[in-house]
Amino acid sequence: MVSARLGCVDGRAILVADSLDKYVDIEKFSGGKLPSEPMACIELWSEVCSLAASLALAKATDFVPLDSNKLDCPVPRPRQIFAIGINYKAHAAEMNHGLPKEPLVFTKFPSSLNSPFGQINLTGEKCDYEAELVAIIAKPGRNISVADAWSHVAGLCVGQDFSDRELQYANTPPQFSLGKSRAGFTAIGPWITDAATLSTRANLEMTCRVSGEVMQNTQTDDMIFEVPDIVSYLSGICELYAGDVIYTGTPSGVGAGRTPQRFLRSGDIVETTIQDLGTLINICK
Ligand code: ZN
Repeated sequence: MVSARLGCVDGRAILVADSLDKYVDIEKFSGGKLPSEPMACIELWSEVCSLAASLALAKATDFVPLDSNKLDCPVPRPRQIFAIGINYKAHAAEMNHGLPKEPLVFTKFPSSLNSPFGQINLTGEKCDYEAELVAIIAKPGRNISVADAWSHVAGLCVGQDFSDRELQYANTPPQFSLGKSRAGFTAIGPWITDAATLSTRANLEMTCRVSGEVMQNTQTDDMIFEVPDIVSYLSGICELYAGDVIYTGTPSGVGAGRTPQRFLRSGDIVETTIQDLGTLINICK
């Protein structure tokens, strides 16, 4: 089955080929039927998926070689970014938290969005990494049932929830949203992969390496609240819109939870990979 992979280059929506080394420009390849703007394409998700199915018929001249460093954030202007704290059991233990009875929700403000290969400007001695599975909403709604939730999700992508622990824990109780919203701290991508064609969507291997060392490695079925639970829960409170971004929480192995603690240093390369979804590479400055 062909998977739609919606990315963004030079502000324009693209479809990445199965070979992952080339792409088509969505507006050009659709003969102008689909828009060039990524947010508008997410609203037209089923049309984007139909176009992806026709990639097999594309001519060699329709394709452009993919230079990963040119990839922009595939969701450049979401109205809302939700994030879930403490959503893996082993991570709850390392952060000295009990298991939450309901999803623990905070926001990452959109001004912190970064590109999949963007650099991270460290803001102190306690900046940390958090690999996360990210879901992108296509079909808006309120009061979405768990059973219906996947039909509201366009696709999944890789996310890094960079966190300034000093800012996060400056007060009691801690404030998550600002500590996770420094410039460039919200890296997602490298593209959005159609969730409907991912047979592995409920259980993907996720790995975070820092300068080559594996710091986090998990299967996403270790989540406490899974993607449909989170979509249903959030939509019972907030209206969800096309293009909304949902970070689903990080597994164990974050720098703050290690003994000794291991925070990011200038020159570190943070490599975040999720099976079938791709890799983000962010260099710390
Ligand atoms: Zn997080």
